[in-house]
Amino acid sequence: MDRDQTSTAPSPPADARRHVPRTDALLAEPRLAAAAQRLGRSVVKEVVAGVQERARAGEVPVDGLAELAVAALPATAAGLRPVLNATGVLLHTNLGRAPLSRAARDAVLAASGTTDVELDLATGERSRRGRSALEALLRQVPAAEAAHVVNNGAAALVLAATALAQGREIVVSRGELVEIGDGFRLPDLLVSTGARLREVGTTNRSAPRDYAAAVGPDTGFILKVHPSNFRITGFTRDVPVAELARLGVPVVADIGSGLLAADPVLPDEPDAASWLRAGASLVTASGDKLLGGPQCGLVLGRADLVRRMARHPLARALRVDKLTLAALEATVRGPETPTWTALHADPARLRDRAGRLAAELRAHGFDSRACDTLAVVGGGGAPGVTLPSAAVSLPVAYAALLRQADPAVMARVEDGRCLLDLRAVPEEADEELAVAVRRAGVLPGTGD
Ligand SMILES: *Cc1c(COP(=O)(O)O)cnc(C)c1O
Repeated sequence: MDRDQTSTAPSPPADARRHVPRTDALLAEPRLAAAAQRLGRSVVKEVVAGVQERARAGEVPVDGLAELAVAALPATAAGLRPVLNATGVLLHTNLGRAPLSRAARDAVLAASGTTDVELDLATGERSRRGRSALEALLRQVPAAEAAHVVNNGAAALVLAATALAQGREIVVSRGELVEIGDGFRLPDLLVSTGARLREVGTTNRSAPRDYAAAVGPDTGFILKVHPSNFRITGFTRDVPVAELARLGVPVVADIGSGLLAADPVLPDEPDAASWLRAGASLVTASGDKLLGGPQCGLVLGRADLVRRMARHPLARALRVDKLTLAALEATVRGPETPTWTALHADPARLRDRAGRLAAELRAHGFDSRACDTLAVVGGGGAPGVTLPSAAVSLPVAYAALLRQADPAVMARVEDGRCLLDLRAVPEEADEELAVAVRRAGVLPGTGD
């Protein structure tokens, strides 16, 4: 059972090993036995093994191991830990993009048992899966005749390409063949479905006649992609949806972000309602970008096309679960999402919060000060848009310490300081943030 670390630790007293309480004895301790009921025996056993190992290494005394184990119990049986997002990146992909609203979290919990996801309780008959979530979406976007939900934005595109253009052509501008992130390239995804790409225009310029010349009997649809994570400026031209819609073939518009209606804070970000009104036959979008909901892919638009997609065999492989449907509906119907709140935060208020937090931490002896910062939307959205924000600035060592604090905090390092940017931190979490810093401050050393 010896691990490397035991050989580098000071030699334990010769009899320590013999006096380390046995696993069974520790697991029988009432608090640990209760934890085993709640979290599962294997989770608690792992924690117990951890403290036993530390005792054998002489790092902790052999008595009081049960206490140590209780303190080390995780909050849930899953490895995912809550993290406060103090990066100033509103939709941080590594932190799971959009945080769900309270309403959405409650809805997820309520739907997590057996639920009427595909059942009409009035008649006892089977009903359309996720009907109420789809109805909620359509009420928000009256310009759409029908809606369908899949696992993510990429799945929405795959299903559109498969159901509407397999063995045929997707006409798309060379300026819109984007890489979304992590090596994930839209053209590769589309071609993988058995559709052919018919590229038109150039990187910087496409004109209506380019599309007109490419459209023919082999066209499945024209694809319009919002280049959500980069900007081309200078001698550029692209063709608006309204002009593409005149070419007599379906126009599928990938808006990326999931804005259902226009938001004045992001004037260049397309929204589902506007592009449908402009003539898009279908809009595809991500539920966990600016919509502020769960990871999912939205398809909104013409009823006949949505039906073809929803009835395609592949739809079954891309369908979402009841938890996603619950979270989506509550996001669409419920109060403002944390993403919306962060996006529309008043910079003066953020500055107030930063000032207050920095002063509180200073009073506890921390080298902290408030500073003005710039936040971004992130998640591959609104490139070039910066949002004035405010942060608490700490010595750089805190970036690593805070990742391991309780609660964990993800900060941003800039100019040799650790910045806690408040734009993506809900105001009600300020105190939690201060507590995390204070706890991190008492950890020994400054490394991790
Ligand atoms: C993010 C994005 C996608 C992919 O959406 P996921 O939900 O991440 O699968 C597709 N197209 C555009 C334009 C995007 O911005």
